[in-house]
Amino acid sequence: MDCIFCQIVAGEVPSDIVYQDEEVVAFRDINPVAPTHLLIIPKRHIPSLAHLSETELPIIGHMVKVANQLAREGGVAESGYRLVINCGEQGGQLVPHLHMHLLGGRRLSGGLG
Ligand code: AMP
Repeated sequence: MDCIFCQIVAGEVPSDIVYQDEEVVAFRDINPVAPTHLLIIPKRHIPSLAHLSETELPIIGHMVKVANQLAREGGVAESGYRLVINCGEQGGQLVPHLHMHLLGGRRLSGGLG
């Protein structure tokens, strides 16, 4: 198992976990680009959005639900936040395990890349 996020799920690599349930884990990004920068990932190894099967689609809804909850708990729900899923090389995905960024706590740029 050479996937860093699978190693975090397994507890083999230390991380600052803020939430977990049967399906997902959320932890602080090691290199935050905003005061709130969390990653929400499925426990199951899914390489990217492009690899999601039809039956796996509900995990995205669950990740959004957890992100919304964490945004409320983190105090950024009112001020606003951004959820980002990068997919593939040109989509800016560096870690090949599906993950959603929750960014907030400052005014984010309006650019889309
Ligand atoms: P992406 O470019 O969408 O693949 O984002 C990957 C994110 O994972 C980056 O923001 C990294 O800072 C973050 N990251 C990589 N390794 C770790 C780690 N061990 N713990 C927490 N965050 C990590």
